[in-house]
This record gives sequence, structure tokens and C-alpha cells, in this order.
Amino acid sequence: MNAPRAELLLTGEELVTGKTADSNGLFLARKLAAMGLPCLRITLVGDGGAEITTAAREALLRADVVIVSGGLGPTGDDLTRPALALALNRPLTTPAPLPEHRPGALPEGGEQLHNPQGSAAGFWVVTETQRVLAALPGVPWELETMWPELERRLRAHFPHAVRHALTLRTVGRMERQLDQEVGRVLTGLSGVEWGVTANPLAVDLHLTAVDAGTLQDTARRLRTALGDVVYGEDDTPLAGVVGRLLRERGWMVATAESCTGGAICAALTAVAGASDYVERTVVSYSNAAKVEALGVPQHLVDTHGAVSEAVARAMAEGLLGRSHADITLAVTGIAGPGGGTPDKPVGLVFMAVATADGTFCRGFLHRGDRSRVIARSVTRGLDLLRRALLHGNTGLETHFPPTPPGQHISS
Ligand code: ATP
Ligand code: MG
Repeated sequence: MNAPRAELLLTGEELVTGKTADSNGLFLARKLAAMGLPCLRITLVGDGGAEITTAAREALLRADVVIVSGGLGPTGDDLTRPALALALNRPLTTPAPLPEHRPGALPEGGEQLHNPQGSAAGFWVVTETQRVLAALPGVPWELETMWPELERRLRAHFPHAVRHALTLRTVGRMERQLDQEVGRVLTGLSGVEWGVTANPLAVDLHLTAVDAGTLQDTARRLRTALGDVVYGEDDTPLAGVVGRLLRERGWMVATAESCTGGAICAALTAVAGASDYVERTVVSYSNAAKVEALGVPQHLVDTHGAVSEAVARAMAEGLLGRSHADITLAVTGIAGPGGGTPDKPVGLVFMAVATADGTFCRGFLHRGDRSRVIARSVTRGLDLLRRALLHGNTGLETHFPPTPPGQHISS
């Protein structure tokens, strides 16, 4: 049997009028790819019944699995259910509702899918040719909590086709470099497929294999080869790893943020339990704030400018002295689009990490527009904290050797 293929059909007027950006497609495509059921197509359609019927019919001609989202709940005009029944050439029936669910019609022969977060059940239909049509609600958190049951059913329906998946999450290596390194490690090994997705600075390495043991073995080899470039697996956020390391040491962290506007602290505090290790952030956006809230000497600002190694160091050290934190991170840079000069271009960000052992500081030159410069700064800042916690500030010196005057680490 050829590897089964999936298609997604996402319905909702808001998706085709630009009011809502699709997230269900991203979620489902990622989950399906991870289990070795790649998506052939993702189609967005409005709420029109005829549109949905046509799109579902076409998808069922191409794909072994068609997953539809949207239009099952009370806010829809209930067009999705009859439209899908029509696509399958089956009449609608209304089974006894699942406990705590509203009654909902579904194509004859279908089974209801429990919706733990809502009252509209989804459904699952297997066609005469053993193709699967599954319908889920459009509300993303409802759809996401229904995924495990759908995955169980898909694994049971395609017992020989599905794969096991694992994602190694890396930070600090360029995509191309990582790609080559992984290629070298995996030369001659069979049974594992891999691919990368890059979110500049942080690259995810996706591995899939039919055999779970082969997958684990490959992941072990890669971890050994890549070392601390790998910060975690699967859904672990970088900020969560920093949090775990802080907790292990019993340390508190504080951040002094200029161009990131508190985004690094926001990433840290998005992780549950962050009060155990986040002490404070000072969003010292203006020069006056750097001087008044962090004790940066005015003459440093006057002599070197706010975006400088001297000021970044003084921010980190000032905060270490004024807070109850054991480690501080300071960020000062030019996010753009304005404010750049030949000496200090847009994207130049100085970052300093201070502990009782001393202060590490480097200038990083981030490419991209304002939001990318900020996003890269957040990732870089979290990684500096992670590496400082793993290896101390001397580890940072080794990992980021000093740059010649006027040069910066580009990313
Ligand atoms: P409900 O019970 O709320 O009516 P439903 O199954 O009828 O659920 P819709 O009415 O299509 O689903 O969508 C419900 C909500 O989910 C809307 O706010 C919609 O914007 C959002 N939504 C629908 N599809 C998507 C999608 N593909 N990505 C992100 N959000 C979506
Ligand atoms: Mg609705």
C-alpha cells in the first residue's frame, strides 16, 4: 500500500475574508506530518454549502484522509453537516447525543467524536473505499483537545503506515550549518527521515521513523554530536529550559530590557511556575530610565551612546546590584526601522549577562525588520541565559569569542 495522504479542508467565512488567520491547518498539518501522514493540500473555503461539498468531494478523490474543521457548532448555519453528507452521497442521521453534547446530525454510518472543551461533537466516517472523512469544530482549542482521539483512530485505521516522530530543538546554529552537520551524522543510517524548520536562531530538527527504537537511537546520536546546541525536545519552549536551569540552581533572574520592551521577561513568565525564579524586569527604554532605574552612569551614555557595550554592561551590573537576582540579562539595541547610523546600524543589539562571577557582553547584528530584530533578540537573550546557567559566563566567552572592535556577531 502506498503511504496514505491527507488533506485539510478548513471552513469559515472569517478565513476567506481575512478576519481570522488559520491556525487549525498549521496544527493539523504538523501533527499529521509527524505521524507520517503528510498533507497534499490545505484548502480554505467560506461557509457556503456548495463550496464545502465540492471541495470535500475533490479532496476525497485525492486523499486517504480528509479532515474538515469549522461550522459544527451553534454559530454556524449548520451547512457543514449536510454539505459533507452530500459529498459522501449519504443521508444525514441524528444519533443520540454523547453526554453533555448537543444533538448533531452526521452522515449515515459515521461515529461521533467527543469534544471535551465544547458541546458540538465532531464525527468520523469511513467510506466504501476505506478513506476517512473526519469533521472537527473550528474553535482551535476544541479542535486541539480532540486531536488525541483522532490520532488514535488514524493509527488504528492505518496500522502500517504511521510513523513515530520526535523533534530536537536547537538554538545558535544557522540552518544550513545544522543541515550539513545532521547530514554527516546520519550518513549511512536508514529508517529515519528528517527535515528542519528554521525560526532564525532556533532551528527545529524533525525526525520520523517507523521503528520507535531506531528513532530514539538516532536522536541519541544527534544529541551527542550537536551537544548543547540542542536545548530540548518536542514542545519544550526555550524559556522553559532556562526556567528549569534556574530552578535547579535555586537562582533568580532579572532582565533590563530596552529594545525588547520586556519581551524576554514575558517569554520567561509565560511558563507556569515562573514566580519561583523570575525576580523582575526593568523596561528601561529611555536614557533617563537607564540612569535612574539601573544606575547607569550618565557619562557612559554621553560618551558611548545608549546602544553600546559599556551601557549594556552597566545595565546588567546595575540591575544585579539593585535587585535580588543572581543573574541578570541586559539588552540595548536598535530595532529600527529608524535610528540606525553607519557605525550602529539597525539590528545592532548589545546583550550582557551579569553574575557574581563577572559580566559577559557582545554585540549581535540581527537581520530583518523591527519585529524580527526583537524576536531574534528574545531568542538570543534566552539562549545566553541558558548557556550562562549551563557553563557560567566563561562558557559564554568560549562560545562567543571576542569580536574585533566595530564587528559584531551576525545572525
Ligand atoms: P462553534 O461551536 O463555536 O460555532 P464551529 O465548529 O461552528 O464552532 P466555527 O463557527 O467555524 O466553528 O468557528 C468558531 C470559531 O473558531 C470562530 O471564532 C473562528 O474564527 C474560529 N476558527 C474557525 N476556524 C479556524 C481556523 N481554521 N483557524 C483559527 N480559528 C478558526
Ligand atoms: Mg460555528
